[in-house]
Amino acid sequence: MSSYASFYARSIASREAFWAEQARLIDWETPFSKVLEYDNPPFAKWFVGGRTNLCHNAVDRHLPSRATQNALIWVSTETDQERVYTYAELSAEVNRMAASLASLGVKRGERVLIYMPMIPEALFAMLACARLGAIHSVVFGGFASVNLAARIDDARPKVIVSADAGSRNGKVVPYKPLLDEGIALAKAKPANVMLVDRGLAPMARVEGRDVDYAVLRAQHMEAEVPCEWLESSEPSYVLYTSGTTGKPKGVQRDTGGYAVALAASMQHIFCAQPGDTMFAASDIGWVVGHSYIVYAPLLAGMATVMYEGTPIRPDGGIWWRIVEKYRVTQVFTAPTAIRVLKKQDPAYLTQYDLSSLRLLFLAGEPLDEPTARWITEGLGKPVVDNYWQTETGWPILGIARGVEVVPSKLGSPGMPVYGYDVKLVNEATGEDCGPNEKGVLAIEGPLPPGCMSTVWGDDARFVKTYWETVPGRLLYSSFDWGVRDDDGYYFILGRTDDVINVAGHRLGSREIEESIASHPAVAEVAVIGVQDALKGQVAVAFAVLRQSDAAATPEARLALEGDVMKIVDRQLGAVARPARVFFVSMLPKTRSGKLLRRAIQAICEGRETGDLITLEDPAALEQVRDAVRGG
Ligand code: AMP
Repeated sequence: MSSYASFYARSIASREAFWAEQARLIDWETPFSKVLEYDNPPFAKWFVGGRTNLCHNAVDRHLPSRATQNALIWVSTETDQERVYTYAELSAEVNRMAASLASLGVKRGERVLIYMPMIPEALFAMLACARLGAIHSVVFGGFASVNLAARIDDARPKVIVSADAGSRNGKVVPYKPLLDEGIALAKAKPANVMLVDRGLAPMARVEGRDVDYAVLRAQHMEAEVPCEWLESSEPSYVLYTSGTTGKPKGVQRDTGGYAVALAASMQHIFCAQPGDTMFAASDIGWVVGHSYIVYAPLLAGMATVMYEGTPIRPDGGIWWRIVEKYRVTQVFTAPTAIRVLKKQDPAYLTQYDLSSLRLLFLAGEPLDEPTARWITEGLGKPVVDNYWQTETGWPILGIARGVEVVPSKLGSPGMPVYGYDVKLVNEATGEDCGPNEKGVLAIEGPLPPGCMSTVWGDDARFVKTYWETVPGRLLYSSFDWGVRDDDGYYFILGRTDDVINVAGHRLGSREIEESIASHPAVAEVAVIGVQDALKGQVAVAFAVLRQSDAAATPEARLALEGDVMKIVDRQLGAVARPARVFFVSMLPKTRSGKLLRRAIQAICEGRETGDLITLEDPAALEQVRDAVRGG
């Protein structure tokens, strides 16, 4: 048996012994009395009775040995700024932020919503919440008011931390108006909004509610806020993600299990050493940002690079310049970014000293072979695809190179990662699939440490959504199709649900449909994900108008299409904007009225729709075909 095969086998067969060993990677204020409690499946509790704190493990623990080492390297090509914080400086800033939040009454177990651009204060706010035992909920800065309102109402935050503006492609994107609109739409109003003023956009303050962080920080320059020791299963954060319904799910993460899982992943998967520098080019609004910009590198005693900007501004060499300047050892990004770079001058890959770089990690969407090949050859470094989800918080499939460098296969994210009892099952029968047989990727409980513990405030939804879809078996469904080859390598074949993956960003088609349907001219709409050479997928909408002649002329059609896009921009954010909006007079549905999104998708991608025996009216498919053909 290879060393990885036996490592993996032990993680499943001797689960508790395996994870008790990994748990030594972090500090415990009180040791746990039990590694795993799984007497109420599918709810797993890891490291029962142990008390710890994420901020202590990410920051304080390193102070005796690494106070002067870099902890956070912030680079903004949007505002042409760079700032570097040592562990001592990071600690001071986190304490100032924690004291400021505490002065607004934030306590253990309370929620703080963070709606921020990629600036150091966002990371300070996350760690400050962890320090206080408060639960952060970061909302991606590219989201807009309706998304915000839904999350505010579900998380019911005591305080929201935000900023005047972000910047994208050199263009200022004001946040405050969207936030004010979001709060106005929400029922659960926060007591306070704490604002970082970057001086990018004017901000109106709401008297009595809005406070300036600069003022509070100045009052707490010397603050030392003790870490609140949490029982391992107490929540660290809630991160919302999309699924089949219009209502996003709050993925709830524990504290101890998450710390252990991340610390272990840094050793076994990311091959990181203390003192290394990780550059995860993602956003703190997504799970990769939570795990691999903020927590994991700091837990491992590394420096983390936080980047505000695009991969190609000021030019396509910017990421590699950062690697050279800060001696980055691990880069982590999504395949879309590499496809963007692929369109640039290939000389950028050889112009810089990349000798510090050991590994490039890619995740978030399928890694196509040409992209994998181009970047592997261009960099001359191993490229490691890894597959996971917001729900799991760390990789499910990958190559654990820290355990053994088994060869990878193009197009495959690898094999089940230790701790995950991965199955491929037949969606109709629930039976295990054999090699080369397509099935739903599922995980036998208990989920390993670090994975979601429940849906925030809704245990029943956690069970129903994730654990009751495989017939006859209590299995966690990933909602991804997959296949395993004869050598045990997995390949991911797309989602089983209506989730759209645009440039590694996960969007729900229902949410976009609801937004478009709020346009007064729209009676009905279907949104689907269509293959795109650059972004993996883009959203495309098919709308039925209340008055069919509202888009009779090409000019009217164009104007209405622009209008619909604007509504999505304002409500959900540009990231959710459909690439095209087509107008039809009916949508393909089953006789029972269910939208046939998959048939629409097939037409858009030039595939056969297959046998649609339940189709209500074939003319609807013809309309979709004509619309797409007509452009
Ligand atoms: P998110 O929760 O936003 O991270 O999105 C998770 C989804 O992205 C997964 O369920 C997959 O559909 C897709 N995904 C993530 N990583 C990969 C990968 N390496 N290969 C293929 N699909 C991936």
